[in-house]
Amino acid sequence: MAIAVFLLVFFAAFISAQSSYIKYNTSQDVVEGKLNVHLVPHTHDDVGWLKTVDQYYVGANNSIRGACVQNVLDSVFEALLADKNRKFIYVEQAFFQRWWRQQSETDQGLVKELVKSGQLEFINGGMCMHDEATPHYIDMIDQTTLGHRFIKREFDQVPRVGWQIDPFGHSAIQAYLLGAEMGFDSLFFARIDYQDRTKRKDEKNLEVVWRGSKSLGSSSQIFTGVFPRHYDPPDGFVFELNDVSPPVQDDVSLFDYNVQERVNDFVAAAFLQANVTRTNHIMWTMGTDFRYQYARTWFRQMDKLIHYVNKDGRVNALYSTPSIYTDAKYATNESWQVKTGDFFPYADKPNAYWTGYFTSRPAFKGYVRMMSSYYLVSRQLEFLSGRSSSGSTTDTLADALAIAQHHDAVTGTQRQHVADDYSKRLSMGYAEAEELVSLSLARLSESIPQTGYRDPITEFKQAKIINLHIDCPLLNISYCPPSETNLSPGKSLVVVVYNPLGWKRGDIIRIPVISDSVIVRNSDGIEIESQLLPIDLTSLNVRNFYVKAYLGESPSVTPKYWLAFSASAPPLGFSTYIVSSAKQTGSRSTMSTVHTPLGSESGNIEVGQGNLKLIYDVDEGKLIQYSNSKSMVKASIEQSYSFYSANDGSDKDSQASGAYVFRPNGTFPIKPEVQAPLTVFRGPVLDEVHQQINAWISQITRVYKGMEHAEIEFTVGPIPIDDGIGKEVTTQFTTTMKTNKTFYSDSNGRDFVERIRDYRTDWDLEVNQPVAGNYYPVNLGVYVQDNMTELSVLVDRSVGGSSIVDGQIELMLHRRFLHDDIRGVGEVLNETVCILDECKGLTIKGKIYFRIDPVGKGAKWRRSVGQEIYSPFLLAFSEQDGNNWTSSHLPTFSGVDSFYSLPDNVAMITLQELLDGKVLLRLAHLYEVGEDEDLSVMANVELKKLFRDKKIGKVTETSLSANQERMEMEKRKLLWRVKNDIKDEPKIVRGGVVDPTKLVVELGPMEIRTFLIDFDRGLSREVAGI
Ligand SMILES: [Zn+2]
Repeated sequence: MAIAVFLLVFFAAFISAQSSYIKYNTSQDVVEGKLNVHLVPHTHDDVGWLKTVDQYYVGANNSIRGACVQNVLDSVFEALLADKNRKFIYVEQAFFQRWWRQQSETDQGLVKELVKSGQLEFINGGMCMHDEATPHYIDMIDQTTLGHRFIKREFDQVPRVGWQIDPFGHSAIQAYLLGAEMGFDSLFFARIDYQDRTKRKDEKNLEVVWRGSKSLGSSSQIFTGVFPRHYDPPDGFVFELNDVSPPVQDDVSLFDYNVQERVNDFVAAAFLQANVTRTNHIMWTMGTDFRYQYARTWFRQMDKLIHYVNKDGRVNALYSTPSIYTDAKYATNESWQVKTGDFFPYADKPNAYWTGYFTSRPAFKGYVRMMSSYYLVSRQLEFLSGRSSSGSTTDTLADALAIAQHHDAVTGTQRQHVADDYSKRLSMGYAEAEELVSLSLARLSESIPQTGYRDPITEFKQAKIINLHIDCPLLNISYCPPSETNLSPGKSLVVVVYNPLGWKRGDIIRIPVISDSVIVRNSDGIEIESQLLPIDLTSLNVRNFYVKAYLGESPSVTPKYWLAFSASAPPLGFSTYIVSSAKQTGSRSTMSTVHTPLGSESGNIEVGQGNLKLIYDVDEGKLIQYSNSKSMVKASIEQSYSFYSANDGSDKDSQASGAYVFRPNGTFPIKPEVQAPLTVFRGPVLDEVHQQINAWISQITRVYKGMEHAEIEFTVGPIPIDDGIGKEVTTQFTTTMKTNKTFYSDSNGRDFVERIRDYRTDWDLEVNQPVAGNYYPVNLGVYVQDNMTELSVLVDRSVGGSSIVDGQIELMLHRRFLHDDIRGVGEVLNETVCILDECKGLTIKGKIYFRIDPVGKGAKWRRSVGQEIYSPFLLAFSEQDGNNWTSSHLPTFSGVDSFYSLPDNVAMITLQELLDGKVLLRLAHLYEVGEDEDLSVMANVELKKLFRDKKIGKVTETSLSANQERMEMEKRKLLWRVKNDIKDEPKIVRGGVVDPTKLVVELGPMEIRTFLIDFDRGLSREVAGI
């Protein structure tokens, strides 16, 4: 009995002594002289992938994946309030904004406190973590700006760190433009080539100073950290509800007390990482995809680890953020290796090059690009016509487009239902922006200049009365109801042609018409040359099927012809063309002549009415020569198609080709079918060569009279897979040029980066995939050169491209599979389009542009035509009876001063009136240093002439995302020490501060400058006396 009493007393004492509340000391800061383990609590929340963005947010469709971002943010919020030492970073503003809108004012106040105290830090800060291979740089800027300005407005915070942890390779643009020019102090990510990573770990070069731009060099560098493995914690330290890592069990009254073991594990993992890292600071990324749905499980363990590890004392553990980590690194005064170029392509295993997604879902990629251009032009028109406080805005389109830049969106690596969700959002945004564009163009065309301010209400009503159909989003499949109208006598079609570029520009307009007898007049009422071309059968078939599939009804009429005519429009302005039915006698549009070489015919055919001629071999039905009588270039060139058969993963390596990975299993040329020879259409505006390559590939090559490049419009699909083999379809341009394994591809549509086949600048490449391992993303174009000439190919959307043999450029156009590539999406990339139950593989149409120049002369064309491809003419249609349009509307308009246009080397990439009435302006120099002898120089833009009729009040230069003053940003820039400074770095040229009286903006090569402009409201320049 005595023993029993003793035991009871002992046990009670034991419980009361050891099971009491333990206050964990989590306040630890950086400690000099120790290895500091920065614990960075984070979650990686994909803005759509296996589920749609909204499904991820609310936690719907959890049978696919148990993920609910609302839970993450709710529980993190509570966990941070529970201990002021805890920290958390949040990245994806698309999710955060959904959550923020739903919080009470009190909770919003508490969140603001958390942000202010640094417990909750926004990093990266865009709407999503954009991809770096397939988005256009303008879209990357726009989506980041949207997030950054929200963070500034609600929290008065400026994100300091780039956090691109998941994208599949990293672009030069991300480093210098979306990094340094955003004012970021550092950039972190996980995915680089496995061979590169091994070497960097060996040499402790995972952390570098990255100079992404040749032109801006050290003035635009950023400290960059690559994680040693991935963006999850070290093994054994993952603490979501169902994770298997052992918790720290520090209650001696319970079984399995393990404090010392867990401390030992922690210290061992820390030293392991320290072995591959410079300085005594390492970062642990404490979290991964959709984690912290019950944040307490993580913080409980980290509280204990920090407490006991620091008691142990061998290393120092602390709650941290990437900003704190960056400052700690900077404070060490260490020198870092300089990294140039980029981190493409990415392979995670010898046969797993993630170069397939450069092309996956090409139709969606084309749609995103088209919407990108539309977003730019609609904001421009909104500004020019005056923003109205009610009515349609570009906000829906802005959101949809931002989300579409996510690294599982424009990449084409999401599930089908998610791809449909992105497209739906874009089309809703487009529909709203279209109303705005219609209203704006109507206002501008109805306005009478120099009469001071007009009543916007009246304008709005007027605009509603007129019937202005904007654009034809399905023009690419020959569907444009406004132009397919029956032109009875006296009735005509009005085509308003708007030019979003800052310089006057001409282009050929092509619209489908039903009449074979029309005339076209320009803004001055003068008849101009026009040409009719038959709409080919392939296009009509595609048109009929897709209009039914997309719109649910068959087209009511079938146009017979394309009407083509040359149009021009002033900078940021429009001109008007009138298409009428031709009289019985008199002039009319020219019907193209047709030439179909007969089977017995042989020899060559020359195509082209101007300086450029393409020569085709009739027997083989193929292009053989390019010649330009002006530039004196004459070169052999062939263009052909082939496909790679997709590896199905049935050999000893189970890696299949799929949405992400390109793993070819042989290449097969597609020979033109002899039975269907080429057909040539000729006329005064352009010549066309129609070729049916095989049953599912056809193309039309166009040579325009006044242009010195050729355009190929291809139609590819449905790709047959009934033979059980997935296929990846490519086109090749083949010349005899000696290109020495070298080619150049753009970085997100901006700088060109040199590529050398089977070679990497940063390590000795072990070549396992001679094709897939040489593929690079292409957003603008690719070129090759030898000592005589250069061949450039430009694209209308992002694709994958390479130069697999010397003298050749190859682009991948379309992909279709029967297997998944085991990277998580869990669905085969096999796009189909259905009418009821009738489904076909997706057919795509797109355009490629090519040209051969004397060596060193190609940049001008790539840059200026590149802008034209990105920002095509916007077409608006109306009808008039008699002269009722022409008599009441301006025939031409320009938003800039007459006789002024932007210099040839500058583009206006943003012009937007913000909610607060300020105007956001971005100007981009289009040339790199040394790229062109005339245009790679300092450029000047005169703001006074750019903004006609407006009095400029104040001009403030900001960071690229317009969330801080440029001057402030420059002041707090960290000056990193580097080990291998580049000796022959070209002299960096940047524009100076803008003089508030002269208001001239200077731009050095590749410089983009961002301004917030206050205009004096209600004052035209005339009124203001200027
Ligand atoms: Zn991701």
